[in-house]
Amino acid sequence: MTLRTDIAIIGGGIMGSALAYWLTQFEPKLDVTVIERDPSYARASSALSAASIRQQFTTPVNIRVCQASFAFLREVGDLLSVDGERPEISLVERGYLYLASPEQTPTLHQAHEIQRAHNADVALLDAAGLRARFPWLNTCGVACGALGLSGEGWFDAYALLSAFKRKARAQGAKYLPAEVAGLTLAGRRVSQIALGDGSKLACGHVVNAAGPWARRVAAWAGIELPVFARRRTVFVVACKAKLDGMPLLIDPTGFWIRPEGEHFIGGTTPRVDTDEAPLEPEYELWDSLWPDLAARIPAFAEAKVVRAWAGYYEMNEFDHNALIGAHPAVDNLYFINGFSGHGVQQAPIVTRGLAELMLRGRFETLDLSDVLIQRLVDGKPLRELGVIG
Ligand SMILES: Cc1cc2nc3c(=O)[nH]c(=O)nc-3n(C[C@H](O)[C@H](O)[C@H](O)COP(=O)(O)OP(=O)(O)OC[C@H]3O[C@@H](n4cnc5c(N)ncnc54)[C@H](O)[C@@H]3O)c2cc1C
Repeated sequence: MTLRTDIAIIGGGIMGSALAYWLTQFEPKLDVTVIERDPSYARASSALSAASIRQQFTTPVNIRVCQASFAFLREVGDLLSVDGERPEISLVERGYLYLASPEQTPTLHQAHEIQRAHNADVALLDAAGLRARFPWLNTCGVACGALGLSGEGWFDAYALLSAFKRKARAQGAKYLPAEVAGLTLAGRRVSQIALGDGSKLACGHVVNAAGPWARRVAAWAGIELPVFARRRTVFVVACKAKLDGMPLLIDPTGFWIRPEGEHFIGGTTPRVDTDEAPLEPEYELWDSLWPDLAARIPAFAEAKVVRAWAGYYEMNEFDHNALIGAHPAVDNLYFINGFSGHGVQQAPIVTRGLAELMLRGRFETLDLSDVLIQRLVDGKPLRELGVIG
């Protein structure tokens, strides 16, 4: 059996669903089909994310995208309401606090200058300033810190994904619960998508929104995409102390921690980072994280891990930034991949940009040229200093 659609989106996570929303928002009559193999999203990064948003990047495009994204998140109740029902994404506006050792200080200052030049609301604090603001913090080995004063925080990524999906459906997008098993090419175009049950979907345009599995989709079209599934563990930590106004803290040793409801969540970069490791938490990482955490915030000396989960960063090994747009080798195959741990915060805006590019041939609201996939072909990486392992 062969079905047909104008635009087929492979993957119904936050990228696929937000893109379906924008496409049907711009062109209500457009025939958009999102193909998602697991509507429970049990392994999808969007459901396993730490869901935090910051302005503290060093590339202007990342700063601008996240500023626009935060504005979208503030208005999400109105923008994504369906039949008067407003989605609730539990947005908490609270800063990131990047702490720097004396050796890391020049890089933090450099980042700060770029951020200030792009109107990011970030303050630099010296060790005494940090202690005055956060009395629970031990500043031993810390020379300074950069604190986001507004436009940063965290939210419920699954609720945002669900809101995009619901709104996209209300605007006419279809969701097909199926696994994509391959692509058929006719010259420089994808002509059909092969589904796991043997049926085919003919399409005008195809979008690779397969998250950590995007490399496989690209390979079906003969394109080598340097995006790998890298497991990251998130620990849910109970700590009795009250740490009022605690930001998302990033320590010079590499761990991060932030409040989450009545608990805290945190993690660190694994020492061994293989592709598609089983999605089970790496509990051993807590043994290396905890001493650094308890040294930085002594209240955590009494902390206990309540539970943990693992998800995949869709890691772009080329330059750790988004890869979007059509690849020059295949005319009607678009990409929205490789966010390397900063995808959910960018989803509302990068998908708007991709929808503009697909329907109107150019970026209209925000220029995303710096993250076009073309740079892979040109061998010109976009260096971002603020990637969190
Ligand atoms: C532990 C962790 C912490 C993170 N923290 C943050 C953070 O604080 N801030 C931030 O901005 N980002 C964070 N991220 C990254 C963010 O979650 C991702 O960038 C984002 O969710 C990617 O969305 P996606 O839609 O591309 O991928 P996914 O959500 O993984 O969706 C891809 C979908 O494609 C489907 N799919 C794949 N292949 C096929 C196929 N062949 N057929 C049919 N369907 C298919 C999958 O089932 C999946 O549902 C974190 C990620 C993890 C794992």
